[in-house]
Amino acid sequence: MSLQHLSALVDGVLAGQRRSLAKAITLIESTRADHQQRAQQVLTTLLPQTGNAIRVGISGVPGAGKSTFIEALGVWLIEQGKKLAVLAIDPSSSVTGGSILGDKTRMELLSQREEAFIRPSPSAGSLGGVAEKTREAMLVCEAAGFDVIIIETVGVGQSETAVAGMTDIFCLLQLPNAGDDLQAIKKGIMEIADLIVINKADINPQAATVARSQIKSALGMLRHASPNWAPPVLMLSALQKQGIAEFWNTIENYRSTMQRSGEFEARRRHQARAWMWELIDQGLRARFASHARVQQDLPGLQAAVEAGQTTPSAAATRLLGYLG
Ligand code: GDP
Repeated sequence: MSLQHLSALVDGVLAGQRRSLAKAITLIESTRADHQQRAQQVLTTLLPQTGNAIRVGISGVPGAGKSTFIEALGVWLIEQGKKLAVLAIDPSSSVTGGSILGDKTRMELLSQREEAFIRPSPSAGSLGGVAEKTREAMLVCEAAGFDVIIIETVGVGQSETAVAGMTDIFCLLQLPNAGDDLQAIKKGIMEIADLIVINKADINPQAATVARSQIKSALGMLRHASPNWAPPVLMLSALQKQGIAEFWNTIENYRSTMQRSGEFEARRRHQARAWMWELIDQGLRARFASHARVQQDLPGLQAAVEAGQTTPSAAATRLLGYLG
């Protein structure tokens, strides 16, 4: 790609052209070294135009109603004059090559709307790699003028932490049955949630109310990261489109509260710094693993450590020493 093509791509993204947007994200997702280099050029050029959207993370177990909810929310936001992008992080795709999020037609109404941009999870790579690409795709969407970025993930593993680490507010979608919340507490998910939503409240409103108070009392035992925000527990029905406006009001309320206290920007600064260190860690690991002498000596040293002939510390010092 020539410099001219590159600036045409950047201009296209800034003008909000979907083709350019999709192309830029494809470039970001490519594993080819020359593509990666260009992707970084594009991102660097776009960076001053990023940061203006609200970044919302949404997670929940398969069947919790994520796509039904995001579609209802998305259509509602469009009615309010907003443009939204929906990006996904699907940890199953990196483990199995298949996908929990992508194997059915999702958000059909929303995908037909001009004001919405929906991008499935990158299908290759580790969770860290997928998260990195999604984070970069988010920046491109912001430069393209989207007001709301939704990052969706399946609640089956560590992807929740990755999503919470790149969004302004992390929402957990729960089903109205007891026990679910206990799972979330066990996995430490409840702790990172800024907002909890009990979906499918239409099926059994009474059960939903019980679940709500259970979750509320469970939350009372946890300490939220912000002294200025106690995570609310909302009930709604994505299918019947009830509670959508209340959900969005809560997001706006969170945003203004966090902006007033300075925590909104602080969270983003912290995220950017943590992202850089994650990339440094990854880069060092990759360099270590591909080093010729490390490759040569690692198996022997590992066996010696296992057999108790060498201390882990001595082996690590020797191997790291090869990096110079
Ligand atoms: P996802 O796997 O989390 O994306 O869940 P889906 O959005 O695909 O929803 C799973 C099933 O639950 C679908 O059959 C939906 O129609 C249904 N569903 C989603 N939200 C609601 C709701 O608020 N009420 C009821 N009754 N069903 C819902």
